[in-house]
Amino acid sequence: MIIYKTKEQIELIREAAQVVSRTLGKVAEAIEPGISTLELDAIAESYIRSQNAIPGFLGLYDFPNTLCISVNDEVVHGYPRKDLIQDGDLVSVDCGAILEGYYGDHAYTFAVGNVSEDKLKLLKVTQECLEIGIEQTRVGNRLGDIGYHIQKHAEDHGYGVVRELVGHGIGQTMHEEPQIPNYGRRGRGKKIKEGLTIAIEPMINMGTEQIKYLSDEWTIATADGMPSAHFEHNVAVIDGQPVKLSTFKYVEEALAKKK
Ligand code: MG
Ligand code: MG
Repeated sequence: MIIYKTKEQIELIREAAQVVSRTLGKVAEAIEPGISTLELDAIAESYIRSQNAIPGFLGLYDFPNTLCISVNDEVVHGYPRKDLIQDGDLVSVDCGAILEGYYGDHAYTFAVGNVSEDKLKLLKVTQECLEIGIEQTRVGNRLGDIGYHIQKHAEDHGYGVVRELVGHGIGQTMHEEPQIPNYGRRGRGKKIKEGLTIAIEPMINMGTEQIKYLSDEWTIATADGMPSAHFEHNVAVIDGQPVKLSTFKYVEEALAKKK
């Protein structure tokens, strides 16, 4: 069952999503070659708690950390480790927070140091896929329109769209109905209605769409070892239109200062 939200409930999701947005900004300030993903996790956890919020992933499905950090060929669900981030890495950071009983959940993939042109292009196209999906999230469309347009944009660039992992409704639980696949058929699926609140999160691979599960039982990686990117926003339908509840503003400000 899809739980459509009132404007008041949407404001609560926005507040939680904004905690995550600012947390990703803190990660953006700190991320550089030589820092471990475990150190980034500690920064995120302490910031979230300083905002009187609770890390949304910690303990969810027994996940042991605040951030999911997935490097290079890792797609999602990587967990923080002592390994140091290297120059040229793509680092996907996914973060959740609970504030006043509502969840925020979004993700950004960072290019650390000197990153190859082909990896930068993957990031650009994946972020475009996210924006294209958000643009489709409006009354008059159906859920299949979101996935159709994300898939088309990715595949037009020769990239693989991960099938096993999808976006989702969000609210008082992190993963609500409906599922939001990053592939689909135009004009199919449920009608998009006022008060829908979802996480849209394209996971796009430079090579094959096929994935594999690593032996740590968490991390999902590309089957061919090529890089993968992941961007996620929380979106509500308000007055028929898509409204982003999360923002990359803090990430972008932090990255601009480092240049
Ligand atoms: Mg997420
Ligand atoms: Mg999500």
